[in-house]
Amino acid sequence: MSSVYHDYSTFSNVTSFADSFANFRQLDNLNWFEQIWGAYYYYIGNDLFATGLLFFSVHELFYFGRCLPWAIIDRIPYFNKYKIQDEKIPSNKEQWECLKSVLTSHFLVEAFPIWFFHPLCQTIGISYQVPFPSITEMLIQWAVFFVLEDAWHYWFHRGLHYGVFYKYIHKQHHRYAAPFGLAAEYAHPVEVALLGLGTVGIPIVWCMITGKLHLFTVCIWIVMRLFQAVDAHSGYEFPWSLHHFLPFWAGADHHDEHHHYFIGGYASSFRWWDYVLGTEAGPKGKKQREEKMNKKNL
Ligand SMILES: [Zn+2]
Ligand SMILES: [Zn+2]
Repeated sequence: MSSVYHDYSTFSNVTSFADSFANFRQLDNLNWFEQIWGAYYYYIGNDLFATGLLFFSVHELFYFGRCLPWAIIDRIPYFNKYKIQDEKIPSNKEQWECLKSVLTSHFLVEAFPIWFFHPLCQTIGISYQVPFPSITEMLIQWAVFFVLEDAWHYWFHRGLHYGVFYKYIHKQHHRYAAPFGLAAEYAHPVEVALLGLGTVGIPIVWCMITGKLHLFTVCIWIVMRLFQAVDAHSGYEFPWSLHHFLPFWAGADHHDEHHHYFIGGYASSFRWWDYVLGTEAGPKGKKQREEKMNKKNL
């Protein structure tokens, strides 16, 4: 029996997911998302398995689901004018090789620790019960995770460009000088673990310190981080890209330069670390550094 809800006294016989959902629909104190979440855990009936299956499926669905539109756009000539490195459209063979490698890594490397996530959550007190926390609490946590993950990513990614670390670990990710969505997770297992720790480890530490975190918050955070990573590798810059409205957002414009020039542009979501520490990539970075110098000299 799942511990997702505290009181099943009004529930009638459940043999399918639809039955489970119908029971949760009767609980007026829960919103639609909470009812779906509760119905899922109740239907599965084994919380450890339910969390493992949920996180594995969410990762696969949203990673490949987000890559798909970019793979389609690559095949439509109209969009070529928005491609940052327009002379380098990834070949079908390159994309296929990348897909095979990413899938192998998902099933052989990432699937394993995902099954230990539920016991870990229980140990440190990450809740998975319904109802969820307030939206304000979740928004604050997502903002904190984005800022801290970006700092983690900046320093460890910068470290991965150092001599031996680059040669034996990070070089794999730089195989594609002009990235495409699928290449986001094309990396050495050590890199996947190290940078993945920024995504998963930060919420864990947050919960250990504050004692407040819900698995749904973590789930949405992982989806947002997947979208950020895939979009940063998309290779496309549009007039409506997010960084035009949020100037500190990194996006593909920032990360494409990193793949193109190899040096500089180490952060994941935001531009501030590279800006303040003068590590922006390519001619744009050089121009910004010169402008900063000129301002200082005035
Ligand atoms: Zn790099
Ligand atoms: Zn990259």
